[in-house]
Amino acid sequence: MSDDTIEPREPVDGAIRGLAASDVATARWLWRNGQLVPWDEATVHITAVGHSSVAAVFEGIKAYRAAGGQRLLVFRLDEHVDRLFASARICRTRIPYSAGELRDAVLDVLRANEYRDDTYIRPWAFPSGLIREQMVPAAAVCEVVIDTWSFASQLFTAKACRAAVSSWVRVGDSAMPPRAKAFSNYHNGRLAVIEAKANGHDWPILLNDRHQVSEGAGACIALVRRGTVVTPPLTAGVLESVTRATALTLLADAGVPVEERTVDRTELYLADEIFFLGTAWEVLPVGVVDGLPVGDGEPGPVTRLLQHAYHDVVRGVRLDHPDWITEVPR
Ligand code: PMP
Repeated sequence: MSDDTIEPREPVDGAIRGLAASDVATARWLWRNGQLVPWDEATVHITAVGHSSVAAVFEGIKAYRAAGGQRLLVFRLDEHVDRLFASARICRTRIPYSAGELRDAVLDVLRANEYRDDTYIRPWAFPSGLIREQMVPAAAVCEVVIDTWSFASQLFTAKACRAAVSSWVRVGDSAMPPRAKAFSNYHNGRLAVIEAKANGHDWPILLNDRHQVSEGAGACIALVRRGTVVTPPLTAGVLESVTRATALTLLADAGVPVEERTVDRTELYLADEIFFLGTAWEVLPVGVVDGLPVGDGEPGPVTRLLQHAYHDVVRGVRLDHPDWITEVPR
């Protein structure tokens, strides 16, 4: 092999190469297969990258800084770990750890890295080793890795975004079940994001195979009309979102009427408020949809109410849902 075949090529204009660990601040410790390992030692053979990801499932969890950095609170850890197992079950892979072991692993890796600030946690499970079969067999043994990185909340700093209905249709339960948080499903949202940005919008809204509103590329969606919050049902081709469930509870707590029902595209155009819901997105207001302003284009009163309720619950200010919070032990 000549030198120029192993040298990474310079990207063409505007192209993005994957990050090298030296480009970003990475965690010092990863959790891998039952142990904390130093970042640099968490390697795989190059041939193990590829088809293994076809069957890989993952989670996205947030831990929040609380009490001026004295406490770090993981939000709804049990629900996220349960969903990882649900995704693996749907995708016919087997995670060789118990839910309790993975919950402890998340806390261990957060503590080892001595996080004080908001942190994102990504556990994932993928068939390990050299997979030559395109149809990864159900019996393939999975590795589990938990990566973490600093990820400050943008709950009150993110501006209302510009969203547009995508020409890409959300994958359906009978093809690529969106109820599973599988890496391979993200090609669908990826194409929609690329299209949205190419057309000058921030984020796509995907319709499902029945032409009704499903969700965003990495978040669920809800609208407000005449004081009622409406969100598509869990059978609309959406991920069973933890943030969506949280929002429905917090809104009900505040006495705001909520409806889970099919949503037509044109309801987006008549909505007084629209927001995305997700672990990373939190409660992100939509200011423009398909070029039409949503309300006056600014976050509306229900969006603001929900953002404040979400802030208070994830940071441990509000104590009425104690089972949602797991403190990282010192
Ligand atoms: N839908 C998709 C496709 C997602 O990737 C996410 C983010 N996990 C969500 C919805 C929101 O889910 P959650 O609130 O559990 O983060």
